[in-house]
Amino acid sequence: MIPRETVEQIFDAADIIEVIGDFVTLKKSGSSYKGLSPFVNEKSPSFMVSPAKGIFKDFSSGKGGNVVSFLMEHEHFSYVEALKWLAGKYGIEIKEKERTPEEIAAQGEKESLFLINLYARDFFMEQMFNTREGKAIGLSYFKERGFNEATIKKFELGYSPERSDAFAKSAIEKGYKLEYLVKTGLVKANDRGMYDFFRGRVLFPIHNITGRVLGFGGRTLKSDKKIAKYFNSPESEIYHKSNILYGLYQAKNELIKEDECYLVEGYTDVISMHQAGVINVVASSGTALTDGQIRLIKRYTNNITILYDGDKAGIKASFRGIDLILAQGMNVKVILFPDGEDPDSFSRSVGIDELTNYLKTKRQDFIQFKAQILLKDAKDDPIQRANTIKDIVKSIGIIPDQIIRSVYIRETSHLFEIGEQALLNEVNKHLAEQEKNANKKSYNQREEAPPPEASPTELGIAPNKQKGKHTLERQERDLIRLMIQYGAQTIDVTVQNDDDEEIEVAYPLSQYIIEELLSDELSIQNESYLKIFDEFYEGLQQGLVVSDEHFIRHQNQSLSQTVIDISTPKDVVSENWTKRHGIMPGTELQRLKAAAEQSVAVYKLRVIENMIAENQDELKKSMENLALEQLLIKIKDLTSMRNSFAEKLGIVITR
Ligand code: ATP
Ligand code: MN
Repeated sequence: MIPRETVEQIFDAADIIEVIGDFVTLKKSGSSYKGLSPFVNEKSPSFMVSPAKGIFKDFSSGKGGNVVSFLMEHEHFSYVEALKWLAGKYGIEIKEKERTPEEIAAQGEKESLFLINLYARDFFMEQMFNTREGKAIGLSYFKERGFNEATIKKFELGYSPERSDAFAKSAIEKGYKLEYLVKTGLVKANDRGMYDFFRGRVLFPIHNITGRVLGFGGRTLKSDKKIAKYFNSPESEIYHKSNILYGLYQAKNELIKEDECYLVEGYTDVISMHQAGVINVVASSGTALTDGQIRLIKRYTNNITILYDGDKAGIKASFRGIDLILAQGMNVKVILFPDGEDPDSFSRSVGIDELTNYLKTKRQDFIQFKAQILLKDAKDDPIQRANTIKDIVKSIGIIPDQIIRSVYIRETSHLFEIGEQALLNEVNKHLAEQEKNANKKSYNQREEAPPPEASPTELGIAPNKQKGKHTLERQERDLIRLMIQYGAQTIDVTVQNDDDEEIEVAYPLSQYIIEELLSDELSIQNESYLKIFDEFYEGLQQGLVVSDEHFIRHQNQSLSQTVIDISTPKDVVSENWTKRHGIMPGTELQRLKAAAEQSVAVYKLRVIENMIAENQDELKKSMENLALEQLLIKIKDLTSMRNSFAEKLGIVITR
């Protein structure tokens, strides 16, 4: 843990132009700097840095953040690693908070396991390249498979000798503790002694993104069907198979450059594709794809292409994978290989050119893919056809972004010659169901909402409804955006003084919005926005308006990211980025009061409409109930409230 004051000190010292300048050639342009995006290949610069705000924005990839998030993004540092790097650069001493004995012990254990894996990797490589047994059995196996020496070295492949305790003995001799050797899974110990878990196998080290060895996969060289072909390291303090992707370390930079990730099943697929020149590939190896693995990919690209064997198991696995990927708001395509072939065997049997050609031409989006597979047996059976459509629609319903959903609905509508509205109704049914399930989860378990998609200039007037109720996300975002961008600006507000006279008072805009919400007992629903709102509120109670800088360097990374996303535009609109968007679109500033009133009014309008919808639901349920009359009165009141807001908005909007 780095103490808060030190974090502040680091942020104060770090010059974002200088730091990013270490990685990107920047040129001054107005009040900001620009350069070529370090995340995608591009010819004209769309990467901007604002020294005044201490933020960067890459319009090609959409990435944006502060100086620390740049290092995390570009160098793949963790938050703490990035801070330490900056501290090193600016000569700031970090006095870490004292750790508890448990923390020290846990850290010590983790570190020990890493060191043992490092030793093991070197041992297995040494055995394979420099012993007679290793060369004759391990190395020749890989060469027979078609792996060349550069590939073998790149993936640090190795061989564990047949002798049952070769590795264990050597490691103990070097002073590694048996307890930790056992914890890595490399050594098994029982009352008869100790033996090597991977003995007689060729080894595939599995790396984390910084290249440290988390564990191993080991393939037997015996053709005995009773022996498991592959073994993997057991779960440990450092090896969590659901959060590991094989090949990610070797692929990560290419994932960013190609903005696409091929997902394959196994070690040999990754390695063969690498050798064929396709680097942006990772494997889930041995486990069904997990959310954690998809999130790992998402750090580098939003586009996943699944490459699976076209047999039954492969198709089933790809169907599951598709929905998991869609649920994370990512794009998914599929390439199936001929029955019984995987990318590894395919590239070996047809050659590199044929493989790359196959990848180029056989790609299908998930709708085409599902349609093709599901309709194969359906022929003209209308029931089968309907089921296929339902299946596809169910997948569409998983996509969080409404605009992307509508694109896929359109595609499905064309493909099956069926009306968009019918499909939309079906999708909405699924959405309603999901919401019901989500509400069952407890508040704490719920994941944070994905970052909102609306553009900052959008004032959230268009309703965004889900099952008859507004989601309020866009309206809340707009209120929070105004608070962040203009929180300290004052607007004249009419209030009543103690003598009931109406007077004009200059209010900070953030205070105006907070009072408007609190006086109607309204509270923000989106968790991130609520946190921001609360911090403004706490600040105001101490008589100060929290600055956007406070949020930009906030310790809570996701909160800082939310704020940066809100305050940067999605597209590069003009050279004059900071001036136009850096927080001051001139026109909005001039009519700040109207903008604030409008935002508050739209928000309240949507809240009221939601209340009306709720009461109408209630009404349907309690037709014979005594509460009927009360409900009718409530709805009537709410409706007249809504009308007055709508009327007020009508005036504001047309002005
Ligand atoms: P073969 O030479 O017989 O084709 P292989 O080593 O290519 O054998 P496959 O059975 O084709 O292995 O499996 C393909 C990939 O699936 C392997 O590269 C491996 O990464 C992965 N795999 C298969 N079984 C397991 C397992 N039990 N645990 C982890 N990964 C596995
Ligand atoms: Mn194979």
